[in-house]
Amino acid sequence: SDLVGLDNLVANTAYLRAQQVDYDELRKRRVSLTLPKPKNSSGLLLDRKYESVCEQQPIGRKLFQEFLLASNPQYVAAAEFPEELSHWRFAEDEAREKAKRSILAKFCQPESKSFLSYLTGEAAEICKNLSNKNFDEEALEQIKEATRDFLRGKPFLEFMKSPFFYRFLQWKEYEKQKITNKYFYEFRTLGKGGFGEVCAVQVKYTGQMYACKKLDKSRLKKKGGERFALLEKQILEKVNSLFIVNLAYSYNDKTHLCLVMDLMNGGDLKFHIYELGERGIRMERLIYYTAQITTGILHLHSMDVVYRDMKPENVLLDAKGQCRLSDLGLAVELPKGRTICQKAGTTGYMAPEILKQENYRISVDWWALGCSIYEMVAARLPFKDFREKVHNEEVTRRTLEDECKFEHKNFDDPTKDLISRFLRKKQLHRLGSRGEDPRSHRFFQSINFHRLEAGLVEPPWVPKSNVVYARNTDEFRDNSEVENIKFDAKDEKFFNEFSTGAVSVRWQKEMIDSGVFDELNDPKLNGHGCESVWT
Ligand code: ADP
Ligand code: MG
Ligand code: MG
Repeated sequence: SDLVGLDNLVANTAYLRAQQVDYDELRKRRVSLTLPKPKNSSGLLLDRKYESVCEQQPIGRKLFQEFLLASNPQYVAAAEFPEELSHWRFAEDEAREKAKRSILAKFCQPESKSFLSYLTGEAAEICKNLSNKNFDEEALEQIKEATRDFLRGKPFLEFMKSPFFYRFLQWKEYEKQKITNKYFYEFRTLGKGGFGEVCAVQVKYTGQMYACKKLDKSRLKKKGGERFALLEKQILEKVNSLFIVNLAYSYNDKTHLCLVMDLMNGGDLKFHIYELGERGIRMERLIYYTAQITTGILHLHSMDVVYRDMKPENVLLDAKGQCRLSDLGLAVELPKGRTICQKAGTTGYMAPEILKQENYRISVDWWALGCSIYEMVAARLPFKDFREKVHNEEVTRRTLEDECKFEHKNFDDPTKDLISRFLRKKQLHRLGSRGEDPRSHRFFQSINFHRLEAGLVEPPWVPKSNVVYARNTDEFRDNSEVENIKFDAKDEKFFNEFSTGAVSVRWQKEMIDSGVFDELNDPKLNGHGCESVWT
C-alpha cells in the first residue's frame, strides 16, 4: 500500500542523510570524550612486538611516526624514507621520475641532512652508490629492510619509554570499552539472512557507517548454528583485505549476536546482473570486479581458508564502486596439508568434486569463480538457465557430464579461455589449483595488480549517492516466530566468546579517519597531557 511506500521512503531518507557527514553535529557528540588512564595490568598484557605496535596497528604506527619526527634528524630520515619509497612505487610516469629524483637527492647524498647515516655494511654501500641507472626494486628493498632493522632496535626501545607510548596505552585502554546497542544509531534493513537481518548502523561519536548482521540467538540455538557463527566471526576478524568485508565490532544484546562490518551500499553483483539496465555486466566492469574477487580469494587461500560460497550474490559493492567478498558463513580453515569432503555451497556453483563427495581443498572456489564470471557475462549459469525450474540432480548431472557452451554474443576469446580453465572437471587440471597464478591470465592484461591492491585503480562504475541499492524494507518483514528458548551457562559462555568488542586494526583506523584521534590527542582539548610516563 501507499503507507508501506511511505515507510520505505522515510527509512531511505534517514539512511542516505546519515551518510552525509555533519561535522558540527559530530563535534557536539564528542565534547565529553576523554582518553582513559591505562591500567598497569593492561600494559603488561599488551603485545609489545615491533611489527604489531609500529606497523600493523594504525594508531601505534602513527604515534611511532610522530615520535620519530620529534626526535633527531637520523630518526626523521628513517621515518620519511619508507613513505617516499612507497610513494615512488605507486606513482606513474612523470610523478614517478620526480619521486625517484627526490629520493636520490634527499637520502643518498652524504652531504644531505636526511642522508641515511644509520645504514651499515652492504646496505650503506648500496645506498651511496644508488643512481638514476641502478635504481631498482631489489636494492631499495634491501635498504628498506635495513631501515626496519634499525628502527626495531634503539628507536623502538626509546619510543616505549616516551610519552608517545603512554598515549598508545591510553588508546588501547579506550579500545577495550564494552560495546552495546547504545554505541550505534540504527537505520534501515539492507538484507536478510538465515538467522536474522542486516541493517545499516552508525557509530555515534565518529559518524562511521557500518552494516550490522544480527544473528537471532534463539534461532541459532534451535538450528545448531552456533559453531558456524563463531567460525564466521573468527575468520572475518582475521582477514585484512581490501576485497573482503572486514569486521569492526562483535557484541551481543539480549536477543542477538551482532557482527558489525564494512557497509557495502552499492548492492550485490546478482542485483547488478539481473535488476539494473541490460542483463549482464559489461566487460570493463567485469574484468575489474573479477580482478578484485580473485585477489580476495587468493587472500583467503593464503590463510588456508576455503570460501565455498563464491557467487555474484555474495560479492558486494561499496560507495566507491569497489567490491568485496561477503558472507563467510560457509568458509572453513583447512587442516594443514589435508583435504575435506563435506558437501557445502549453492546449487549451480558447486564443483564436480563436491557433488561427488570427493576430497577437495581450494579448487572448489576457482570452479565457482568460473561459474560466476560466466553468469556476469551471460546472465545465466553454465549448467542452469536463469529461473529454470530444474531438479538439483539434473544440475549435478550436467555439471559432471556436459561441456560448457558459450552461446551468448558477449563472450570474447580471453574470457572463454579463462572460464574454460576454471571449469576443468578434474581438480588437478583446473587453473588456480595447480600452483599457477590466475592473475597472469591474459584476461587480466589491463589490470595493474599492485595498484589495484593499494586501492589506486579507479572503479569503472560508481554507485549514485542518492540511490539505495537494496530491496524495499517491507520485503524483509519477518513473520516466522521462534518459540521462547532458554539459554544455559554453556550458551552464555559461547555468547561471551563471540562478543569481543572492537577489532583493533579496524577500530584504530576508524578513530584516525574520523578525526577523533587528532581531537583527543590535542592536550588542550581534553586535559590529559603526556606528562606522566608509564614504566
Ligand atoms: P546469510 O549468511 O544469513 O546469508 P548474509 O551475510 O549473506 O547472511 O547477509 C544477508 C544479506 O544482507 C545479504 O544478501 C546482503 O543483501 C545484506 N548484507 C550483508 N552484508 C552486508 C554489508 N556488509 N553491507 C550491506 N549489505 C549487506
Ligand atoms: Mg547470504
Ligand atoms: Mg551465510
